[in-house]
Amino acid sequence: MTTTPRPLDLLDLDGLHSEEELAIRGVVRRVVDDHVRPNVAEWYERGQVPVRDLAKELAKVGLLGMHLEGYGCAGASAVAYGLACLELEAGDSGVRSLVSVQGSLAMFAIWKYGSEEQKDEWLPRMASGDAIGCFGLTEPDHGSDPGSMSTRARRDGDDWVLSGGKMWITNAPVADVAVVWARADEGVVGFAVPLNTPGVSTREVHHKLSLRASCTGQIFLDDVRLPDSARLPLARGLKAPLSCLTEARYGIVWGAIGAGRDSLHAALDYAGAREQFGRPISGFQLTQAKLADAAVELQKGYLLALHLGRLADAGKLRPEQVSVGKLNNVREALAIARSCRTILGANGISAEYPVMRHAANLETVLTYEGTSEIHQLVIGQALTGVSAFS
Ligand SMILES: Cc1cc2nc3c(=O)[nH]c(=O)nc-3n(C[C@H](O)[C@H](O)[C@H](O)COP(=O)(O)OP(=O)(O)OC[C@H]3O[C@@H](n4cnc5c(N)ncnc54)[C@H](O)[C@@H]3O)c2cc1C
Repeated sequence: MTTTPRPLDLLDLDGLHSEEELAIRGVVRRVVDDHVRPNVAEWYERGQVPVRDLAKELAKVGLLGMHLEGYGCAGASAVAYGLACLELEAGDSGVRSLVSVQGSLAMFAIWKYGSEEQKDEWLPRMASGDAIGCFGLTEPDHGSDPGSMSTRARRDGDDWVLSGGKMWITNAPVADVAVVWARADEGVVGFAVPLNTPGVSTREVHHKLSLRASCTGQIFLDDVRLPDSARLPLARGLKAPLSCLTEARYGIVWGAIGAGRDSLHAALDYAGAREQFGRPISGFQLTQAKLADAAVELQKGYLLALHLGRLADAGKLRPEQVSVGKLNNVREALAIARSCRTILGANGISAEYPVMRHAANLETVLTYEGTSEIHQLVIGQALTGVSAFS
């Protein structure tokens, strides 16, 4: 079993976990050490990540669809899944995104809303990393307000015809199946769309300055004809994709702490070794204030994530509670990464250290799965009973 480096566990939080949870964390930490850390800076600089190879490695230890039951999935607890997200994002937010999109968005949508045939067809292959999934909700003109989506699904005899397009879709250019959400006469409906279906095409989004160790793309749907068996039969209305987002946001609550922890770790190491004015910069009070503030926020964020995880395992987690976690932990992780970056001085902007990469990644994490403003509005609605956005 691996333990958290002592300065990062000021409050002895490891003691809040079972042996099994810590063992799972140790396995994920080793996978990240072996397969992510040695390569991620190069993936990031090239803006290319070997999604399929990486997915196979992550699948070997049961990380794809880890919190789902049956169909080749590991059936782990919410807390164990959260710890996995934390360790993955300590490697890179893009790697955690691969796992979140595969398991919490694409697989969860099929697991929760699909037919038995769809589950049998896709879930075992997705759990083993043989099939890659993506989740198409956002469109070029509809992001925070997916209810206004333009993508249409119309009936044509026994078939459906999809037209429209999706934007900013993680893994779309390399995926085998896309869960696509579209507006039909009866409201929002979802489909499991094989990406080799005639009329479907994808294009990679280039020039990203954030989440570069992740593949992002567009999906074009040009009169795509699908049998009714491709529709997710149990998904009715916008609440279906929103429930998938709640799953993925929960993983982000933990993941962000991983990016923050790795940033603090790098800053502590650097500050202990770097000397200015004849002494290690860790001895300066201003540096210690930054380190102390970062450590305090990390511990608080961790406790929040763990509390939400225990609620999830008790079947009591509500969406607005996930919003509290996502808003706080991503915002604080970003502040930690930026502050730690300053401790590394000029080296802080180099890809030889992980800190600037985490800070840049967290700009995406702040925006996707509901922007920080949308989470403020969700919390505002829970407090006041008044929706400011619908
Ligand atoms: C790298 C990356 C990967 C992604 N992967 C996926 C994916 O796999 N699948 C998917 O479907 N989507 C994905 N997204 C899209 C992401 O979920 C959206 O970018 C996000 O929902 C915000 O939408 P938008 O970019 O259109 O911003 P907009 O909705 O245009 O928002 C712009 C700004 O306006 C603010 N705003 C909007 N409405 C309100 C309001 N009512 N009150 C106050 N402020 C408001 C927002 O908070 C934000 O600050 C990804 C995005 C990125 C960057």
